[in-house]
Amino acid sequence: MFFKLYDTFGFPVDLTKIMAHEAGFTVDESEFEALMEKQKQVARGSWKGSDKANAQLDLIAKATQAIPATKFIGYETLEAKTKVAALFKDGQNVNELIGEGVLITAETPFYAEGGGQVGDFGQINNSEVLDTKKAGDIYLHFVNLKEKIKLNEPVTLKVSPERKNTQRNHSATHLLHAALRKVLGTHVTQAGSLVESERLRFDFTHPKPLSPEEIKKVEALVNAEIKAAKNVDIKHMNYKEAIVAGAMALFGEKYGDEVRVLKMGDFSTELCGGTHVSNTSDIKLFKITSETGVSSGVRRIEAISGDKALELIESAKRELLQIENEISSNKGKALEKLLNLQQQFKDYESKLKALVTKPWAKGVDELVKKAKTVKGAHVISVHLKANDREVLSSLSDKIKDKLQSGIVIIIGAPSTDSPQSPILVSVTKDLSTKFNAGNILKSIAAIMGGKGGGKAEFAQGAAPQSDKTDEALAKSFEFI
Ligand SMILES: [Zn+2]
Repeated sequence: MFFKLYDTFGFPVDLTKIMAHEAGFTVDESEFEALMEKQKQVARGSWKGSDKANAQLDLIAKATQAIPATKFIGYETLEAKTKVAALFKDGQNVNELIGEGVLITAETPFYAEGGGQVGDFGQINNSEVLDTKKAGDIYLHFVNLKEKIKLNEPVTLKVSPERKNTQRNHSATHLLHAALRKVLGTHVTQAGSLVESERLRFDFTHPKPLSPEEIKKVEALVNAEIKAAKNVDIKHMNYKEAIVAGAMALFGEKYGDEVRVLKMGDFSTELCGGTHVSNTSDIKLFKITSETGVSSGVRRIEAISGDKALELIESAKRELLQIENEISSNKGKALEKLLNLQQQFKDYESKLKALVTKPWAKGVDELVKKAKTVKGAHVISVHLKANDREVLSSLSDKIKDKLQSGIVIIIGAPSTDSPQSPILVSVTKDLSTKFNAGNILKSIAAIMGGKGGGKAEFAQGAAPQSDKTDEALAKSFEFI
């Protein structure tokens, strides 16, 4: 029941706890945790998990217990001069480092992976910081050093300017979350998210795919908030206060007593430790690129923002222009023109088929007159200089209609695309218990070095030795 309140209706977990407690109820928390863990696994099923860095984390976590907490200054700045507090090579504490390893500083502007936001990358002196993760309160810079760095040495840290795009995407994620709840309902709850500089990905609970109208509405709501240029306010407050004030606590996150509350106007209030734009207008533009299902009841939206979104629209526009030129359509009429062309193509196709079968059709009467009688059945065995199976099969039907009762054997001719002769055998329904098209076909095809199969009423195959066509035709009556 408790889990259902949360999972289906998106009712805040902690508010439920507080209310239940006040009303004198207790809540089965262990069962809730188990259910939540199960759903988390489903939602994260396809997510990128461990890599080389993760393998070292446990070792380092143990060794960093004696190091004081890293001071994170990355909300305010992307650059800092600081001091090396610890160095690790292959998970082992070292006094100097070159090449790949983990570097810890007294303070850092590098955001460590968490709350869906990827870890920062950038530079340390002239070398690369590849990724940033956290072990407790310690920030771990995964570095590849071109020059040796020693313990206690001063260093310059510089976060990649790409972080600004990550911030746009993170703030856009909060707006998206709020917009989804407005458009779809408050049962929408975050089931996972990934925020990086290139794009954002947001998983949420919802029972069915979004309609194009719903996607359009969500996009429009987010873009309206961007246009409204709302300040992004950050407040630190007591966890309970924040939840009662309506802040959305996120799935799978652990919060301390004091929480960071991120507010964008009246539109979105969430607990979040991530980095954000200072005004919604910095996001510039928001565009959903896909909406898919992750598992039963969990949907996934991928989206982009900022210059990436502008570039996408620009390139789509260029492509459309090219299409308009290519099909010589007027501006804005490309779709209409394309549908017309499609219809025209279909018309030509059926006209072409009629044209091809017409000359053969004239001969049908003649053929029927020449039918031989074998074991009481009218049999027509004929060579037609065509390769198209659709054409041959429609001719076979025409002959069968004229015959009313009988067996039709057609051996076609090879073409440049298809070097084998097609073979078709049809038996009218009334005779299908007495004669088997499949068996007749196999014997004929064998003479020409080919094979095929089918059922009692219709069978087809192909054979490579077209020079044996006359022999196969002559012998075909023997196989009836
Ligand atoms: Zn966030």
